[in-house]
Amino acid sequence: MKPVPYDLIVIGSGPGGYSAAIRAGQYGLKTALIEKQGRLGGTCLLVGCIPTKALLQTADVWQRFVHSEDEGIHCENPRLDFPKVKERKDGIVGKHSNGVALLLKRAKVERIAGYATLAGGGKVEVQSGTGTQTLEARNIIIATGSEARMLPGLEPDAEFILTNVEILDLTAVPKSLIVIGAGAVGVEFASMFRRFGTDVTVVEMLPRAVPVEDEDISKELERSFRKQKIRVETGARAENIRKTGEGVRLTLTTRDGKQEELEAEKLLVAVGRKPNTANIGLEKTRIELDRGFLRVDGHQQTAEPGVYAIGDVVAGTPQLAHVATREGMIAVAHIAGKAAVPINRNRIPGCTYTEPGIGSVGLTEAQARAQGRQVRVGRFPFAGNSRATILGHHEGFVKVVADEKYGEILGVHIIGPEAFELIGEAVAAMEAEATVEVMMQAIHAHPTLYEAVGEAFNAVYGLAINA
Ligand SMILES: Cc1cc2nc3c(=O)[nH]c(=O)nc-3n(C[C@H](O)[C@H](O)[C@H](O)COP(=O)(O)OP(=O)(O)OC[C@H]3O[C@@H](n4cnc5c(N)ncnc54)[C@H](O)[C@@H]3O)c2cc1C
Repeated sequence: MKPVPYDLIVIGSGPGGYSAAIRAGQYGLKTALIEKQGRLGGTCLLVGCIPTKALLQTADVWQRFVHSEDEGIHCENPRLDFPKVKERKDGIVGKHSNGVALLLKRAKVERIAGYATLAGGGKVEVQSGTGTQTLEARNIIIATGSEARMLPGLEPDAEFILTNVEILDLTAVPKSLIVIGAGAVGVEFASMFRRFGTDVTVVEMLPRAVPVEDEDISKELERSFRKQKIRVETGARAENIRKTGEGVRLTLTTRDGKQEELEAEKLLVAVGRKPNTANIGLEKTRIELDRGFLRVDGHQQTAEPGVYAIGDVVAGTPQLAHVATREGMIAVAHIAGKAAVPINRNRIPGCTYTEPGIGSVGLTEAQARAQGRQVRVGRFPFAGNSRATILGHHEGFVKVVADEKYGEILGVHIIGPEAFELIGEAVAAMEAEATVEVMMQAIHAHPTLYEAVGEAFNAVYGLAINA
Protein backbone atom coordinates (compact mmCIF):
# COMPACT_ATOMS: atom_id res chain seq x y z
CA MET A 1 0.00 0.00 0.00
CA LYS A 2 1.15 3.50 -0.82
CA PRO A 3 2.16 5.41 2.38
CA VAL A 4 0.20 8.55 3.24
CA PRO A 5 2.80 11.25 2.63
CA TYR A 6 1.58 14.10 4.87
CA ASP A 7 0.17 14.28 8.37
CA LEU A 8 -1.21 17.69 7.49
CA ILE A 9 -1.79 19.85 4.43
CA VAL A 10 -2.63 23.49 5.09
CA ILE A 11 -4.28 25.48 2.29
CA GLY A 12 -3.48 29.19 2.51
CA SER A 13 -0.56 31.10 4.06
CA GLY A 14 -2.41 33.87 5.92
CA PRO A 15 -1.97 34.27 9.69
CA GLY A 16 -4.22 31.24 10.20
CA GLY A 17 -2.50 28.94 7.71
CA TYR A 18 1.15 29.80 8.24
CA SER A 19 0.87 29.75 12.05
CA ALA A 20 -0.93 26.38 11.94
CA ALA A 21 1.74 24.93 9.63
CA ILE A 22 4.57 26.15 11.90
CA ARG A 23 2.88 24.75 15.02
CA ALA A 24 2.38 21.40 13.21
CA GLY A 25 6.08 21.41 12.33
CA GLN A 26 6.94 22.13 15.98
CA TYR A 27 4.85 19.09 16.97
CA GLY A 28 6.82 16.97 14.50
CA LEU A 29 3.98 16.49 11.99
CA LYS A 30 4.96 16.08 8.36
CA THR A 31 3.36 19.22 6.98
CA ALA A 32 2.87 20.96 3.63
CA LEU A 33 1.53 24.45 3.06
CA ILE A 34 -0.04 25.38 -0.28
CA GLU A 35 -0.28 29.02 -1.36
CA LYS A 36 -1.59 30.31 -4.69
CA GLN A 37 0.10 33.72 -4.48
CA GLY A 38 3.80 34.35 -5.07
CA ARG A 39 4.20 35.86 -1.61
CA LEU A 40 3.35 34.43 1.80
CA GLY A 41 1.29 36.07 4.51
CA GLY A 42 -2.24 36.33 3.09
CA THR A 43 -4.55 39.30 3.45
CA CYS A 44 -3.18 40.30 6.85
CA LEU A 45 0.42 40.67 5.82
CA LEU A 46 0.08 41.66 2.16
CA VAL A 47 -3.05 43.86 1.96
CA GLY A 48 -4.53 44.08 5.46
CA CYS A 49 -3.29 44.52 9.02
CA ILE A 50 0.37 45.22 8.37
CA PRO A 51 0.39 47.65 5.41
CA THR A 52 -2.53 49.63 6.90
CA LYS A 53 -0.83 49.96 10.27
CA ALA A 54 2.45 50.95 8.57
CA LEU A 55 0.63 53.78 6.76
CA LEU A 56 -1.35 54.74 9.87
CA GLN A 57 1.91 55.04 11.79
CA THR A 58 3.24 57.43 9.14
CA ALA A 59 -0.04 59.37 9.24
CA ASP A 60 0.51 59.77 12.98
CA VAL A 61 4.09 61.00 12.54
CA TRP A 62 2.95 63.39 9.80
CA GLN A 63 0.25 64.84 12.07
CA ARG A 64 2.91 65.48 14.69
CA PHE A 65 4.93 67.44 12.12
CA VAL A 66 1.90 69.43 11.03
CA HIS A 67 1.07 70.32 14.64
CA SER A 68 4.63 70.42 15.95
CA GLU A 69 4.27 74.08 16.97
CA ASP A 70 2.00 72.92 19.80
CA GLU A 71 5.06 71.27 21.34
CA GLY A 72 7.33 74.24 20.68
CA ILE A 73 9.01 72.66 17.66
CA HIS A 74 9.11 74.78 14.52
CA CYS A 75 9.34 72.79 11.28
CA GLU A 76 9.79 74.85 8.15
CA ASN A 77 7.67 73.51 5.29
CA PRO A 78 7.39 69.83 6.20
CA ARG A 79 6.76 67.85 2.99
CA LEU A 80 5.04 64.49 2.64
CA ASP A 81 6.81 62.26 0.11
CA PHE A 82 4.05 59.74 -0.48
CA PRO A 83 5.95 57.44 -2.89
CA LYS A 84 8.55 57.12 -0.12
CA VAL A 85 5.79 56.45 2.43
CA LYS A 86 4.53 53.65 0.17
CA GLU A 87 8.05 52.31 -0.28
CA ARG A 88 8.48 52.08 3.49
CA LYS A 89 5.15 50.27 3.81
CA ASP A 90 6.11 47.85 1.01
CA GLY A 91 9.47 47.24 2.70
CA ILE A 92 7.77 46.27 5.97
CA VAL A 93 5.43 43.89 4.12
CA GLY A 94 8.32 42.35 2.16
CA LYS A 95 10.45 41.88 5.27
CA HIS A 96 7.71 40.05 7.15
CA SER A 97 6.63 37.97 4.15
CA ASN A 98 10.22 36.76 3.78
CA GLY A 99 10.23 36.15 7.53
CA VAL A 100 7.25 33.79 7.17
CA ALA A 101 9.18 31.82 4.53
CA LEU A 102 12.13 31.46 6.93
CA LEU A 103 9.92 30.40 9.83
CA LEU A 104 8.23 27.73 7.67
CA LYS A 105 11.61 26.44 6.57
CA ARG A 106 12.85 26.28 10.16
CA ALA A 107 9.74 24.31 11.17
CA LYS A 108 10.44 21.92 8.24
CA VAL A 109 7.15 22.78 6.53
CA GLU A 110 7.19 21.99 2.83
CA ARG A 111 6.02 24.99 0.81
CA ILE A 112 4.04 24.19 -2.33
CA ALA A 113 3.10 26.88 -4.83
CA GLY A 114 -0.24 26.57 -6.58
CA TYR A 115 -4.02 26.66 -6.36
CA ALA A 116 -5.41 23.91 -4.13
CA THR A 117 -8.76 22.18 -4.36
CA LEU A 118 -10.14 19.41 -2.19
CA ALA A 119 -10.44 16.21 -4.17
CA GLY A 120 -12.18 14.14 -1.45
CA GLY A 121 -10.89 11.25 0.65
CA GLY A 122 -7.93 13.20 2.09
CA LYS A 123 -6.68 14.24 -1.35
CA VAL A 124 -5.76 17.73 -2.46
CA GLU A 125 -5.17 18.72 -6.08
CA VAL A 126 -2.66 21.48 -6.72
CA GLN A 127 -2.61 23.37 -10.02
CA SER A 128 0.45 25.43 -10.81
CA GLY A 129 2.38 26.71 -13.81
CA THR A 130 4.10 23.34 -14.00
CA GLY A 131 0.92 21.22 -14.10
CA THR A 132 -1.38 19.47 -11.66
CA GLN A 133 -0.37 17.16 -8.83
CA THR A 134 -2.44 15.23 -6.32
CA LEU A 135 -1.29 15.11 -2.70
CA GLU A 136 -2.63 13.05 0.14
CA ALA A 137 -2.84 13.83 3.84
CA ARG A 138 -4.35 12.43 7.03
CA ASN A 139 -5.58 15.91 7.86
CA ILE A 140 -6.30 19.07 5.91
CA ILE A 141 -6.78 22.61 7.19
CA ILE A 142 -8.68 25.04 4.99
CA ALA A 143 -7.31 28.54 5.63
CA THR A 144 -8.20 30.20 2.33
CA GLY A 145 -9.28 33.49 3.94
CA SER A 146 -11.47 36.15 2.38
CA GLU A 147 -11.63 38.97 -0.12
CA ALA A 148 -13.39 42.33 -0.26
CA ARG A 149 -17.12 42.26 -1.03
CA MET A 150 -18.20 44.56 -3.84
CA LEU A 151 -21.44 46.45 -4.19
CA PRO A 152 -23.66 44.95 -6.90
CA GLY A 153 -22.71 46.20 -10.37
CA LEU A 154 -19.34 47.65 -9.27
CA GLU A 155 -15.86 46.40 -10.16
CA PRO A 156 -12.66 47.68 -8.57
CA ASP A 157 -10.46 49.37 -11.17
CA ALA A 158 -7.25 50.56 -9.46
CA GLU A 159 -7.95 54.20 -10.34
CA PHE A 160 -11.34 55.30 -9.07
CA ILE A 161 -13.23 52.44 -7.42
CA LEU A 162 -10.96 50.83 -4.89
CA THR A 163 -10.90 48.02 -2.34
CA ASN A 164 -8.27 47.57 0.37
CA VAL A 165 -5.98 46.11 -2.31
CA GLU A 166 -5.95 49.02 -4.78
CA ILE A 167 -6.00 51.80 -2.17
CA LEU A 168 -2.79 50.42 -0.66
CA ASP A 169 -1.09 50.89 -4.02
CA LEU A 170 -1.87 54.61 -4.41
CA THR A 171 1.26 56.64 -5.07
CA ALA A 172 -0.31 60.02 -4.27
CA VAL A 173 -2.64 61.28 -1.57
CA PRO A 174 -6.09 61.82 -3.14
CA LYS A 175 -7.72 65.24 -2.71
CA SER A 176 -11.02 63.63 -1.77
CA LEU A 177 -12.23 60.17 -0.82
CA ILE A 178 -15.63 58.64 -0.19
CA VAL A 179 -15.56 55.55 1.99
CA ILE A 180 -18.58 53.25 1.84
CA GLY A 181 -18.74 51.24 5.05
CA ALA A 182 -17.81 52.37 8.56
CA GLY A 183 -16.56 49.04 9.87
CA ALA A 184 -12.95 48.71 11.06
CA VAL A 185 -11.45 48.73 7.54
CA GLY A 186 -13.48 51.75 6.37
CA VAL A 187 -12.81 53.94 9.41
CA GLU A 188 -9.10 53.09 9.48
CA PHE A 189 -8.64 54.27 5.86
CA ALA A 190 -10.81 57.33 6.60
CA SER A 191 -8.64 58.22 9.59
CA MET A 192 -5.42 57.56 7.65
CA PHE A 193 -6.22 59.69 4.60
CA ARG A 194 -7.79 62.50 6.62
CA ARG A 195 -4.51 62.81 8.49
CA PHE A 196 -2.64 62.83 5.17
CA GLY A 197 -4.85 65.80 4.16
CA THR A 198 -7.67 64.20 2.12
CA ASP A 199 -11.29 65.42 2.32
CA VAL A 200 -13.05 62.30 3.58
CA THR A 201 -16.74 61.33 3.65
CA VAL A 202 -17.83 58.08 5.27
CA VAL A 203 -21.20 56.61 4.30
CA GLU A 204 -22.65 53.84 6.47
CA MET A 205 -26.00 52.13 5.99
CA LEU A 206 -26.29 51.07 9.65
CA PRO A 207 -27.27 53.62 12.33
CA ARG A 208 -23.73 54.00 13.67
CA ALA A 209 -20.04 53.76 12.81
CA VAL A 210 -18.09 50.69 14.06
CA PRO A 211 -21.42 48.95 14.67
CA VAL A 212 -19.92 45.93 16.44
CA GLU A 213 -18.54 48.15 19.20
CA ASP A 214 -20.28 49.46 22.34
CA GLU A 215 -22.64 52.31 21.42
CA ASP A 216 -20.66 54.82 23.49
CA ILE A 217 -17.55 53.96 21.47
CA SER A 218 -19.38 54.60 18.19
CA LYS A 219 -20.66 57.95 19.48
CA GLU A 220 -17.19 59.03 20.59
CA LEU A 221 -15.55 58.01 17.31
CA GLU A 222 -18.20 59.82 15.25
CA ARG A 223 -17.83 62.92 17.45
CA SER A 224 -14.06 62.89 17.08
CA PHE A 225 -14.20 62.24 13.31
CA ARG A 226 -16.55 65.20 12.86
CA LYS A 227 -14.19 67.35 14.90
CA GLN A 228 -11.40 66.28 12.54
CA LYS A 229 -13.68 67.33 9.64
CA ILE A 230 -14.39 63.82 8.44
CA ARG A 231 -17.98 63.83 7.22
CA VAL A 232 -19.80 60.83 8.70
CA GLU A 233 -23.22 59.88 7.31
CA THR A 234 -24.75 56.96 9.18
CA GLY A 235 -28.14 55.43 8.40
CA ALA A 236 -27.41 56.62 4.85
CA ARG A 237 -27.37 55.06 1.38
CA ALA A 238 -24.95 55.53 -1.49
CA GLU A 239 -26.53 54.71 -4.84
CA ASN A 240 -26.13 55.30 -8.53
CA ILE A 241 -22.34 55.15 -8.27
CA ARG A 242 -20.63 56.11 -11.53
CA LYS A 243 -17.23 57.17 -12.79
CA THR A 244 -16.89 60.67 -14.20
CA GLY A 245 -13.50 60.36 -15.86
CA GLU A 246 -11.88 62.44 -13.12
CA GLY A 247 -13.38 60.65 -10.17
CA VAL A 248 -16.55 59.13 -8.85
CA ARG A 249 -20.05 60.48 -8.36
CA LEU A 250 -22.92 59.02 -6.37
CA THR A 251 -26.31 59.84 -4.95
CA LEU A 252 -26.35 60.01 -1.18
CA THR A 253 -29.62 59.55 0.69
CA THR A 254 -29.12 60.74 4.24
CA ARG A 255 -30.72 59.39 7.42
CA ASP A 256 -33.58 61.93 7.14
CA GLY A 257 -34.28 61.07 3.49
CA LYS A 258 -32.54 64.06 1.87
CA GLN A 259 -30.78 63.37 -1.42
CA GLU A 260 -27.55 64.92 -2.55
CA GLU A 261 -24.92 64.31 -5.23
CA LEU A 262 -21.46 63.55 -3.86
CA GLU A 263 -18.26 63.60 -5.86
CA ALA A 264 -14.72 62.54 -4.97
CA GLU A 265 -11.43 61.65 -6.61
CA LYS A 266 -11.58 58.10 -5.20
CA LEU A 267 -14.14 55.73 -3.76
CA LEU A 268 -13.25 53.01 -1.29
CA VAL A 269 -15.70 50.14 -0.96
CA ALA A 270 -15.32 48.64 2.53
CA VAL A 271 -18.59 46.76 2.98
CA GLY A 272 -17.26 43.53 4.43
CA ARG A 273 -15.35 40.46 3.29
CA LYS A 274 -16.60 37.33 1.58
CA PRO A 275 -15.04 33.97 2.46
CA ASN A 276 -12.92 32.23 -0.18
CA THR A 277 -14.98 29.06 -0.20
CA ALA A 278 -16.05 28.92 -3.85
CA ASN A 279 -14.05 26.72 -6.25
CA ILE A 280 -12.10 24.85 -3.58
CA GLY A 281 -13.78 21.48 -4.12
CA LEU A 282 -16.27 21.59 -1.24
CA GLU A 283 -18.73 19.61 -3.36
CA LYS A 284 -16.39 16.60 -3.06
CA THR A 285 -16.81 16.66 0.75
CA ARG A 286 -19.51 16.68 3.40
CA ILE A 287 -18.52 20.14 4.60
CA GLU A 288 -21.54 22.24 5.58
CA LEU A 289 -21.92 25.88 4.69
CA ASP A 290 -23.54 28.75 6.53
CA ARG A 291 -24.11 31.64 4.08
CA GLY A 292 -20.86 30.80 2.33
CA PHE A 293 -18.83 30.32 5.54
CA LEU A 294 -17.68 26.89 6.73
CA ARG A 295 -19.36 25.30 9.74
CA VAL A 296 -16.95 23.90 12.34
CA ASP A 297 -17.13 22.45 15.86
CA GLY A 298 -15.15 23.64 18.89
CA HIS A 299 -12.02 21.95 17.55
CA GLN A 300 -12.38 23.59 14.12
CA GLN A 301 -13.46 20.30 12.51
CA THR A 302 -15.82 20.45 9.55
CA ALA A 303 -18.35 17.68 8.87
CA GLU A 304 -15.78 16.00 6.56
CA PRO A 305 -13.57 13.70 8.66
CA GLY A 306 -9.99 14.97 8.90
CA VAL A 307 -10.81 18.36 7.34
CA TYR A 308 -10.57 21.44 9.55
CA ALA A 309 -11.25 25.12 8.79
CA ILE A 310 -9.78 28.23 10.42
CA GLY A 311 -9.78 32.00 10.01
CA ASP A 312 -11.91 34.19 7.77
CA VAL A 313 -13.68 31.23 6.12
CA VAL A 314 -15.19 30.06 9.43
CA ALA A 315 -18.83 30.78 10.34
CA GLY A 316 -19.49 32.50 13.66
CA THR A 317 -16.15 34.03 14.64
CA PRO A 318 -14.99 37.53 13.70
CA GLN A 319 -12.68 37.94 10.71
CA LEU A 320 -9.52 38.90 12.58
CA ALA A 321 -5.92 37.77 12.22
CA HIS A 322 -5.52 36.72 15.86
CA VAL A 323 -8.73 34.69 15.63
CA ALA A 324 -7.36 32.90 12.55
CA THR A 325 -4.11 32.16 14.41
CA ARG A 326 -5.83 30.91 17.57
CA GLU A 327 -8.17 28.71 15.52
CA GLY A 328 -5.09 27.29 13.78
CA MET A 329 -3.53 26.45 17.15
CA ILE A 330 -6.73 24.70 18.25
CA ALA A 331 -6.98 22.65 15.04
CA VAL A 332 -3.34 21.55 15.12
CA ALA A 333 -3.45 20.69 18.84
CA HIS A 334 -6.49 18.52 18.14
CA ILE A 335 -4.77 16.85 15.18
CA ALA A 336 -1.66 16.20 17.30
CA GLY A 337 -3.72 14.73 20.15
CA LYS A 338 -2.89 17.59 22.54
CA ALA A 339 -5.22 19.61 24.75
CA ALA A 340 -7.23 21.91 22.50
CA VAL A 341 -9.40 24.48 24.27
CA PRO A 342 -12.19 25.82 22.02
CA ILE A 343 -12.14 29.55 21.35
CA ASN A 344 -14.15 31.69 23.78
CA ARG A 345 -15.94 34.25 21.64
CA ASN A 346 -16.29 36.61 24.60
CA ARG A 347 -12.55 36.92 25.02
CA ILE A 348 -11.60 37.98 21.52
CA PRO A 349 -10.12 41.49 21.46
CA GLY A 350 -11.04 43.78 18.60
CA CYS A 351 -8.72 46.64 17.67
CA THR A 352 -9.27 49.54 15.31
CA TYR A 353 -6.29 51.80 14.62
CA THR A 354 -8.13 55.06 14.07
CA GLU A 355 -7.33 58.35 15.79
CA PRO A 356 -8.57 57.93 18.51
CA GLY A 357 -7.94 54.19 18.55
CA ILE A 358 -10.32 51.51 19.73
CA GLY A 359 -9.71 48.33 21.72
CA SER A 360 -12.49 46.19 23.11
CA VAL A 361 -13.23 42.76 24.50
CA GLY A 362 -16.33 40.99 25.78
CA LEU A 363 -19.92 42.13 26.03
CA THR A 364 -21.06 45.62 25.22
CA GLU A 365 -23.28 47.28 27.81
CA ALA A 366 -26.34 46.69 25.60
CA GLN A 367 -25.47 43.00 25.09
CA ALA A 368 -24.94 42.49 28.85
CA ARG A 369 -28.30 44.12 29.64
CA ALA A 370 -30.01 42.10 26.89
CA GLN A 371 -28.70 38.95 28.61
CA GLY A 372 -30.51 40.05 31.76
CA ARG A 373 -27.31 40.82 33.70
CA GLN A 374 -27.34 43.29 36.59
CA VAL A 375 -24.85 45.65 35.04
CA ARG A 376 -22.50 48.13 36.71
CA VAL A 377 -20.49 50.42 34.47
CA GLY A 378 -17.22 52.14 35.32
CA ARG A 379 -15.98 54.89 33.03
CA PHE A 380 -12.80 56.91 33.13
CA PRO A 381 -11.91 59.67 30.63
CA PHE A 382 -8.39 60.02 29.22
CA ALA A 383 -8.76 63.73 30.04
CA GLY A 384 -7.95 62.69 33.63
CA ASN A 385 -4.83 60.74 32.66
CA SER A 386 -1.58 62.70 32.79
CA ARG A 387 0.26 60.48 30.30
CA ALA A 388 -2.50 61.07 27.73
CA THR A 389 -2.09 64.82 28.19
CA ILE A 390 1.68 64.51 27.82
CA LEU A 391 1.17 62.60 24.57
CA GLY A 392 -1.28 65.23 23.37
CA HIS A 393 -3.98 62.57 22.84
CA HIS A 394 -6.47 62.92 25.65
CA GLU A 395 -9.72 62.18 23.85
CA GLY A 396 -11.81 59.14 24.73
CA PHE A 397 -12.34 56.93 27.74
CA VAL A 398 -12.16 53.44 29.23
CA LYS A 399 -15.49 51.77 29.95
CA VAL A 400 -15.77 48.64 32.09
CA VAL A 401 -18.99 46.63 31.96
CA ALA A 402 -19.24 44.44 35.07
CA ASP A 403 -21.77 42.17 36.70
CA GLU A 404 -23.14 43.79 39.87
CA LYS A 405 -23.38 40.56 41.87
CA TYR A 406 -19.84 39.16 41.87
CA GLY A 407 -17.89 41.91 40.14
CA GLU A 408 -17.33 39.70 37.08
CA ILE A 409 -15.75 41.64 34.23
CA LEU A 410 -18.14 41.25 31.29
CA GLY A 411 -16.52 43.60 28.83
CA VAL A 412 -14.02 46.45 28.50
CA HIS A 413 -14.28 49.10 25.80
CA ILE A 414 -11.54 51.63 25.22
CA ILE A 415 -11.38 54.55 22.83
CA GLY A 416 -8.32 56.76 23.04
CA PRO A 417 -4.54 56.72 22.79
CA GLU A 418 -3.02 53.26 22.28
CA ALA A 419 -6.41 51.67 23.02
CA PHE A 420 -5.35 48.68 20.91
CA GLU A 421 -2.40 48.05 23.30
CA LEU A 422 -4.27 48.87 26.52
CA ILE A 423 -6.98 46.29 25.84
CA GLY A 424 -4.38 43.58 26.54
CA GLU A 425 -4.78 44.11 30.28
CA ALA A 426 -8.53 43.51 30.05
CA VAL A 427 -8.08 40.37 27.91
CA ALA A 428 -5.59 38.93 30.43
CA ALA A 429 -7.85 39.85 33.37
CA MET A 430 -10.87 38.19 31.76
CA GLU A 431 -8.87 35.10 30.74
CA ALA A 432 -7.64 34.78 34.35
CA GLU A 433 -11.22 35.35 35.54
CA ALA A 434 -10.08 38.25 37.70
CA THR A 435 -12.90 40.27 39.26
CA VAL A 436 -13.19 44.06 39.26
CA GLU A 437 -11.96 44.04 42.90
CA VAL A 438 -8.81 42.14 41.94
CA MET A 439 -8.09 44.61 39.13
CA MET A 440 -8.63 47.51 41.56
CA GLN A 441 -5.76 46.11 43.65
CA ALA A 442 -3.41 45.69 40.68
CA ILE A 443 -0.82 48.47 40.85
CA HIS A 444 -0.73 50.60 37.72
CA ALA A 445 2.55 52.44 37.19
CA HIS A 446 2.54 56.22 36.98
CA PRO A 447 2.42 58.05 34.65
CA THR A 448 1.08 55.53 32.14
CA LEU A 449 -1.90 55.29 29.86
CA TYR A 450 -2.93 52.04 31.49
CA GLU A 451 -3.57 53.86 34.73
CA ALA A 452 -6.78 54.87 32.96
CA VAL A 453 -7.75 51.18 32.82
CA GLY A 454 -7.09 50.82 36.56
CA GLU A 455 -9.15 53.96 37.23
CA ALA A 456 -12.05 52.59 35.13
CA PHE A 457 -12.09 49.42 37.28
CA ASN A 458 -12.26 51.69 40.35
CA ALA A 459 -14.99 53.74 38.68
CA VAL A 460 -17.25 50.64 38.66
CA TYR A 461 -17.68 51.34 42.42
CA GLY A 462 -17.48 55.12 42.11
CA LEU A 463 -13.88 55.11 43.41
CA ALA A 464 -11.85 56.64 40.57
CA ILE A 465 -9.43 59.25 41.91
CA ASN A 466 -8.58 61.49 38.96
CA ALA A 467 -12.02 62.13 37.51
C1 LIG B 1 -7.52 46.42 5.20
C2 LIG B 1 -7.59 45.36 6.25
C3 LIG B 1 -7.04 45.59 7.49
C4 LIG B 1 -7.09 44.60 8.47
N1 LIG B 1 -6.55 44.87 9.69
C5 LIG B 1 -6.62 43.94 10.66
C6 LIG B 1 -6.04 44.18 11.93
O1 LIG B 1 -5.48 45.24 12.19
N2 LIG B 1 -6.10 43.20 12.86
C7 LIG B 1 -6.72 42.00 12.60
O2 LIG B 1 -6.76 41.15 13.48
N3 LIG B 1 -7.27 41.74 11.40
C8 LIG B 1 -7.23 42.68 10.42
N4 LIG B 1 -7.76 42.40 9.19
C9 LIG B 1 -8.36 41.08 8.96
C10 LIG B 1 -7.27 40.03 8.70
O3 LIG B 1 -6.49 40.45 7.61
C11 LIG B 1 -7.90 38.68 8.40
O4 LIG B 1 -8.79 38.35 9.45
C12 LIG B 1 -6.83 37.60 8.30
O5 LIG B 1 -5.93 37.88 7.24
C13 LIG B 1 -7.47 36.24 8.06
O6 LIG B 1 -6.48 35.28 8.00
P1 LIG B 1 -6.69 33.91 7.21
O7 LIG B 1 -5.47 33.11 7.50
O8 LIG B 1 -8.00 33.33 7.56
O9 LIG B 1 -6.79 34.29 5.67
P2 LIG B 1 -6.00 35.26 4.69
O10 LIG B 1 -5.08 36.15 5.42
O11 LIG B 1 -7.02 35.87 3.81
O12 LIG B 1 -5.10 34.27 3.84
C14 LIG B 1 -5.63 33.31 3.01
C15 LIG B 1 -4.55 32.83 2.06
O13 LIG B 1 -5.04 31.71 1.34
C16 LIG B 1 -4.62 31.79 -0.02
N5 LIG B 1 -5.55 30.98 -0.82
C17 LIG B 1 -6.88 31.20 -0.99
N6 LIG B 1 -7.42 30.20 -1.72
C18 LIG B 1 -6.41 29.35 -2.02
C19 LIG B 1 -6.34 28.14 -2.74
N7 LIG B 1 -7.43 27.57 -3.26
N8 LIG B 1 -5.13 27.52 -2.87
C20 LIG B 1 -4.01 28.07 -2.32
N9 LIG B 1 -4.03 29.21 -1.62
C21 LIG B 1 -5.21 29.85 -1.46
C22 LIG B 1 -4.69 33.27 -0.31
O14 LIG B 1 -3.88 33.61 -1.42
C23 LIG B 1 -4.16 33.86 1.01
O15 LIG B 1 -2.76 34.00 0.98
C24 LIG B 1 -7.71 43.36 8.19
C25 LIG B 1 -8.25 43.11 6.91
C26 LIG B 1 -8.19 44.09 5.96
C27 LIG B 1 -8.75 43.80 4.61
